[in-house]
Amino acid sequence: MLSDCFSRIGEGVAELVAPTRCAGCERQGAVFCERCRLQAAADYHPLTACPRCGGPYGALTCTECWDTEFSFQACCALGLLDGPLSRAVVLLKDGGEQRLATVLGQLLAARIKRMWGDWADAVCWVPASRAAIRRRGFDHAALLADRVAQCLGVPAHPALQRVRSTELRGLGKAERAQVTRGFHAARRVHGNIVLIDDVFTSGATAQAATDALLLAGAAAVRIAVLARTW
Ligand SMILES: [Zn+2]
Ligand SMILES: [Zn+2]
Repeated sequence: MLSDCFSRIGEGVAELVAPTRCAGCERQGAVFCERCRLQAAADYHPLTACPRCGGPYGALTCTECWDTEFSFQACCALGLLDGPLSRAVVLLKDGGEQRLATVLGQLLAARIKRMWGDWADAVCWVPASRAAIRRRGFDHAALLADRVAQCLGVPAHPALQRVRSTELRGLGKAERAQVTRGFHAARRVHGNIVLIDDVFTSGATAQAATDALLLAGAAAVRIAVLARTW
């Protein structure tokens, strides 16, 4: 196809003018190089991590979440919010490097498959705030969720919306009852949902978004994030 040919020429010219550099280490070549992937994997072991909150050393007893009730079933992370992965998350969110959504989405989907097999019926995401979407020009979480869903072979549902307290006035009684701490599920969902977010810190955001999805009909929710703070 002629358009494909022009597109490849365009990519070649762009690569000459501004060569692709790794988000983690700035070496020329890949958008997130093999070396940085290996480092992120070495820093975080999913089998020794807490299955509830993704804390890195909580497989048996987790000091992070032992006294916390979560309404989501589980949490898995690609790695710690540190080193190359941390830089990649920042570059995806604030640097506008959307190619990272594909690379990190593939890695996260592989982690989800390894941890949970074919458990997911659909993927949802924690939407960025409207101000952040205006500033960045895109919702990085939506992009990431789209790539994860593609790899898992399930649909990505734009179910969640952020709702400011001033907007509650505009909602009917039934809708108002479904707004949980800043999130509203704008449509019904079914089955097992993997909820995608960029970073898991205390779990408060994941918890609020999970509650909205459960109210909207989800059977169960599990959280998958790029990075876990520690
Ligand atoms: Zn690198
Ligand atoms: Zn935990």
